[in-house]
Amino acid sequence: MTTIDTPTATNTLNSYNPSTGELVGSVPVTPANQVDAVIAKARAAQPAWAALSAQERAEMLKPAGEALMARSEELGRILSLEQGKPLAEGIGEVNACGAGMAETVDEIAQAVQPQVLKGDGAQSLLCYDPFGVCAAITPWNFPILMPHWAVVPALVAGNTVVLKPSEQTPLIADEYVKVLNEFLPEGVLQVIHGEDDQGKALVAGDVDMIAFTGSKTAGQHIMAAAAPGLKRLILELGSKDPCIVLEGADLEQAATFAARNSFRNCGQVCVSTERIYVQESIKDAFMDKLLEQTRAFTIGDCLDDNANIGPMVMREQKEHVLRQVHDAISKGAKVLFGGNEHEGNFVEPTVLDGVTHDMDIMTTETFGPIACVATVRDADEAVELANDTEYGLGAVVFGDDETARKVGRRLTAGMIGVNRSMGGVGGAPWVGARHSGIGYHSGPLGHRQFCQVRVITTNEA
Ligand code: NAD
Repeated sequence: MTTIDTPTATNTLNSYNPSTGELVGSVPVTPANQVDAVIAKARAAQPAWAALSAQERAEMLKPAGEALMARSEELGRILSLEQGKPLAEGIGEVNACGAGMAETVDEIAQAVQPQVLKGDGAQSLLCYDPFGVCAAITPWNFPILMPHWAVVPALVAGNTVVLKPSEQTPLIADEYVKVLNEFLPEGVLQVIHGEDDQGKALVAGDVDMIAFTGSKTAGQHIMAAAAPGLKRLILELGSKDPCIVLEGADLEQAATFAARNSFRNCGQVCVSTERIYVQESIKDAFMDKLLEQTRAFTIGDCLDDNANIGPMVMREQKEHVLRQVHDAISKGAKVLFGGNEHEGNFVEPTVLDGVTHDMDIMTTETFGPIACVATVRDADEAVELANDTEYGLGAVVFGDDETARKVGRRLTAGMIGVNRSMGGVGGAPWVGARHSGIGYHSGPLGHRQFCQVRVITTNEA
């Protein structure tokens, strides 16, 4: 297997193009023993930041959204070069942060307004106060969106933030912080760069809450490290999302979703479709459409206009995916599409049929462009297998509307799509169940997770 290895450096964090292995740029590493000083600066800046109203903080961030959009081509290029996704998707990710900024910060400011409850001759004021200093630790798969999802609600709620982005994608995170800092007071938002050691120092430091998005393993370590200080946690972790396709489904719609959601961002999406369960009576018709849709995906460099899937972000990720594919084949899975070896960090979009739960690829997160299909007798078997996982971020079911709704209600994921994708409408939280997370974010419920609720009760006059 030919792969591209990522060189390491000690005082400089280099970022490499995963398609070519070329250096894209570098940032200085924050020595782990300086992380406490960064946190101290965030703590010193927090009282003045919290003294502003939430709406004042929101107004400060609005022009940052416009600045992100004004630079989206340049920033999208940096993002794509270091992460690998097609340039249009890199630019789109920057624009998604920028374009949604004004609406998002207003929504957060509104969500953290005090609420009044009345009863029994008394009234309670529910106050949503900032915790203090928030550590935001983020992954590489959406390297500007994931920092944005943690940083913005933490800031508008009145916390100051120290961001530790993934060591795979430091450049775009660094640029993001620079853009926001054009509009923020000194010390309110800082970034530290490095690998696990910097993340560990941040978690161990004098922070009040940790908003982490990443792998289950790192989440478990962070939870343990946060325990002595009972630090508040939001953990958004991995998953093994199922997609169920039953009789009565619009097969064109189901196959289009299954292919796109298996292959987009090279399968490196927390809510990727990682398991497909198809009812036997419609299996052949569905597979024809799934294979047809799969042919529409082409791997290539992020700047290649003909490619709509980039490489895996790093060698280890490619090796993990291929290990799972080979294990599945050795246990009886059939390759219906793809499966060929490629140079560099590329993995071909691949369709496997006949997968079973004794294969690692059906139980451990893959995070690669592999559509794994299993045949089920009926809805009951589909539900049983879909729920046979430690994870529970998203799940999707296609079928006749009545059956699909009933099946959807029986699934144990946090976000369930019925005849559509799993994402909720505006205002809904992004929430994982079971080992996919603790706490959640987005929407008013999620924004309040960045706050300490205080209940002040007085007698009614
Ligand atoms: P990762 O856990 O390896 O790293 C994430 C971040 O944590 C990085 O910045 C890393 O340096 C840091 N880190 C690692 N170990 C740490 C420790 N012990 N203490 C403190 N910091 C530590 O994850 P990744 O490979 O960057 O991202 C992929 C994972 O993220 C997948 O599992 C994916 O499902 C998950 N993810 C989840 C969501 C969600 O919303 N649930 C969204 C995106 C990605």
